[in-house]
Amino acid sequence: MSAIPRRVLVIGLDGASFRLLAPWAASGELPELAKLMAAGCHGELRSTFPALTPPAWSTFVTGKNPGKHGIFSFRALASHGYASGDLVTARDLKARTLWEICGDAGRRVGAVNVPPAYPVRPVNGFMVSCLLAPPGATDIVHPPELRAVLGDAYEIATEPPRGLRRDAPDYRARCLEYLAHQQRLAATRLAVTERLCAEQAWDLLAVVFYEPDRIQHFFWDYLLGDVPPDVDPAVATEIAAAARPIYRLLDAGIGRLVRAAGPDAVTLLVSDHGFGPAPRRLVRVNRWLADAGHLRVRRGWRLRRRLVRRLPPRFRERWDTVDAAVDWPRTRAWCEVIEVRSAGVWLNVAGRQPCGSVRPGSEYEALREDLRRGLTALREDGAPVFDLVARREDVYRGPYTELAPDLLLYTAPRHGLRFDGLRPELRTRAVFGPFVDAVWPFTGAHDPAGIYLAAGPGIAARGRSEEASLEALAPTILTLLGLPVPDGMDAAPLTAWLTPEAAAALPVRHVPDAEPTPLEGEGYRSEEERAQVEARLRALGYVE
Ligand SMILES: [Zn+2]
Repeated sequence: MSAIPRRVLVIGLDGASFRLLAPWAASGELPELAKLMAAGCHGELRSTFPALTPPAWSTFVTGKNPGKHGIFSFRALASHGYASGDLVTARDLKARTLWEICGDAGRRVGAVNVPPAYPVRPVNGFMVSCLLAPPGATDIVHPPELRAVLGDAYEIATEPPRGLRRDAPDYRARCLEYLAHQQRLAATRLAVTERLCAEQAWDLLAVVFYEPDRIQHFFWDYLLGDVPPDVDPAVATEIAAAARPIYRLLDAGIGRLVRAAGPDAVTLLVSDHGFGPAPRRLVRVNRWLADAGHLRVRRGWRLRRRLVRRLPPRFRERWDTVDAAVDWPRTRAWCEVIEVRSAGVWLNVAGRQPCGSVRPGSEYEALREDLRRGLTALREDGAPVFDLVARREDVYRGPYTELAPDLLLYTAPRHGLRFDGLRPELRTRAVFGPFVDAVWPFTGAHDPAGIYLAAGPGIAARGRSEEASLEALAPTILTLLGLPVPDGMDAAPLTAWLTPEAAAALPVRHVPDAEPTPLEGEGYRSEEERAQVEARLRALGYVE
């Protein structure tokens, strides 16, 4: 084996967590992972805020925080209005990616299903689109000739089970069918990546497997052997037993990809975020804001709502709206949910929101500080509700920080948030309530502790190592490829991973940052395409 790396293979495992993988590697169930863990170094990888696929993989491909790349969620956030905007696409990414930086340096890149990759970008190499592509889209690969490698039946992502209920008689059958589909997707993704790895020239090859995330949303507890009281233990065991072969399939595939990449390639295993248990308690931040007098209901709304509820749906939709409920001119702050544990509080700023009244400057700062203190102090049963209540500029750096909410909230694992909560929360009196009921099909939720693992030529056998940040991977990959690091990247390369010999051969060099090449192509061509992607994301609990 050569001592200096020449190429880098990145295997992304969306949502992978050492809470599951480390015990399975230790018990012999995932032998390839165990081998790589012993050969190199691994540890926790701190995700972005929020710990969510689009901002996190965007940080992976740019080496920058969302304040510099501009992607904060699956949707544009309500930075100039009162509601979340459209789904994001690769066109919203405002920073240069590894694909452009390496390609411009004459290196060949390959990216398979690494978000954000819709629309697909022309690169020096090849790119296959990501989960943001509409189902059935055909323009999902660059160059288009490679479409034949994917095959006609190639699916980037699949339909999650909609309306799945744990108390429904077909729950077991639908779960097993879903897992069988996940297994087929993983097998196809592997086969395509192995073929591209072997047939195409590349210096940097990356692939993202979505399956761990998709399995863990629904079955996290079952995989850990924790069965919720409303599920038959035999059914939970059967579901877990059907899910584990998918992890073994991925493990064997990792081994084949590492061998196909050859002895001069470093392998990086990366997840965009980790996983943990689903919340048990609901916190209604908009109710709390209304109780504190910051969010005001329109006079007569409750009475009017009672009348409107008797109308046919098309009239109801027109009259029972957020704008009919909220008195925006008298409202000073409201909460926008980003994912099940992440939210932002917006101040209704004069000149920024259409009915804004909070004056920028000292009035803004005083209100924000008041809310920050109040939410930091919020407790249920004596325990703090939030792990993080922070001003946006304390979390993000860069010109797009102003697209983020004025305050950022991250709940403690026990508490969760619900999308589209404004009207329901204004109708309810209590700030807290139960989160889990029979309608909620998920047992897992995202967690900021993702994984990294590096092994191969030039990587020291350090075993379990210190936590790293997602922002550090792009500069590390450039350094492994002998390329300079643009100085706009937010972290230093992880040179502690390297052997002394490799560190001497691969000195860290810096170059001035450059502007990204604008991405041509239109994004979604119709509302129908956008709606199809939204429906899938909704079934995963990712959008309202
Ligand atoms: Zn993810």
